[in-house]
Order: sequence, then structure tokens, then C-alpha cells
Amino acid sequence: MNAKFLETFPLGKKFAGQFPTTVEGYQCPAIHLWCEKCKREQTFNERKRARPGPVAGTALDFGSMSVGRTSFLVYLCAACGWPRSFLVEVGDITETHSPTYSAHAKWIRKLGQSPPWRMEISKEVEKALGDLAGLYRKGFECEGESFGIGALAYYRRIVEDFVLVLLEQKAKRLEGEELAAFQAMRAALDQNWTGSDAIDLAKSELPPEVRPGDANPLTLLYASLSEGLHVQSDEESVERAPEARELLEEFFLQMQRAKDSQAFASLVAKANRRRSGPPQE
Ligand SMILES: [Zn+2]
Repeated sequence: MNAKFLETFPLGKKFAGQFPTTVEGYQCPAIHLWCEKCKREQTFNERKRARPGPVAGTALDFGSMSVGRTSFLVYLCAACGWPRSFLVEVGDITETHSPTYSAHAKWIRKLGQSPPWRMEISKEVEKALGDLAGLYRKGFECEGESFGIGALAYYRRIVEDFVLVLLEQKAKRLEGEELAAFQAMRAALDQNWTGSDAIDLAKSELPPEVRPGDANPLTLLYASLSEGLHVQSDEESVERAPEARELLEEFFLQMQRAKDSQAFASLVAKANRRRSGPPQE
């Protein structure tokens, strides 16, 4: 087990690796998290497990971490003793649970924690998403509750809604014959809507900065989100959602950077015009 698992993983997301189990004295790594009492980030150390051994009739085990069992870990702030606790389940990837299996566990996941796990939403991402930030927040909450399919559904909605915005923008930009041709394609699309056709039609509205080598990141994002929604199990979707979210965040941050650099370019152009004074007759 590593510190990052306890510090940053949402509930349900598996951390795979080899670590000792059924070792009562196994010391979990120190972690660094916010202390409510000290009002700053502090080092937390695991409290010595006081009540070793499994709880009869349950999968709960206070003393050791072993495959198929659920353990309760208590951490204390090194400075003030303020507690943080984690309920973790240990499993074997091969699913060959047996009471005698004791060498190494293959994954561990959090089932609960106190204070509750909370995702920090980046202000930068929120700004880049604009009106779509509400959907993002809901997706984020789903991720926090290990509801991967729900998270992926919200993230896909963001892409779909964003494509509609791009299509509206395109209609406003075009004129004459180009506009007529676009409107015909748009009408055909409305008759027989598919996400990928809509993205193709909207592609020209993306600034070159977000289309490296003329690739369309929206196609990639949409395909990965749809795939996550259609073919994956709940567990897989929990694994998949953070990856999809990171791609989504990077896309919108890149869009924002392109917007900022356009705004900067027009400011520079304006300043230049002012410096060179009124045009010579
Ligand atoms: Zn403290």
C-alpha cells in the first residue's frame, strides 16, 4: 500500500500492488493530509491497531489486513492527535479467496472514510467549463460515490452539450451559400442524430491549438466515454472515470488557453494601432 492510495483515491477505486497481509504489526505508510484541528496539512501516522483479530460472523478485521477481509485503519495527526479513519477491503485479483491465502494481496480499496472523501474541484477547470461546470460537478460527485457509470454519463453529456454550442457558433459565423449548406447538413443531422456526426460537423469550430496534427480530441473523448458506458462493468467504470475526466479537463483547459491567447493577440493588436497613431493621409 502506498500513501497516495489513502490520500487521493476515491472510494471504490482499486489500488493494485503487492503488500503484506495478515501481518498484524504491518505498519501502514505515513500520509499527508489536511488536519482540521491544526488548520494545515500534517503528517498522519497509523495508530497501533488495538483490537487484533477478525470480528466473528463478519468480514471485518480490526487487527490485520487479509484477502477477503475489511479492515479499519485509524490515523492520527502527528502534531495534535486529530483522527482520520479508513475502512479498507483487501482482495485478490485472481478471485481465488481462500482462508489460507496469506502471502500477498493484489488490490486494496476504500469502502469508507472519515472525514468523508472530498474531491477538490480546480477553479481553473471550472472556469474553462463555464456553463458546463454544473454537469462536471455532478459527474465528480458520482466518482466520489464509486458510481463510475453515472460519472461517465455526465462527462459525455458535457461533450454533447459542448458540441451543440459549437454548432450554434458555426451557424452564426457562416454566411450565404456556406450557411445554406451547413443548415442542410444540420437538418439531416437532426433527423438522424449521432454524436460522432455532430462532432464532425462541429470540428471546424475548434481552434488549431486543440487539434494537434488535425486530430479531433472530441471524437476521441466521445468514443472513450461511450465505450465506457456501453461495454464496461460498474467496477471497470470506476477505474475508467478518472482517466476520462482528466482527458476532458485537459481539453477544456486547452480551449481556455486558446481563447486567452486570442484575447491577448487582439489586445496587442489594439495597443499597436494606438502606438502607430492615426493613419497617415
Ligand atoms: Zn493536527
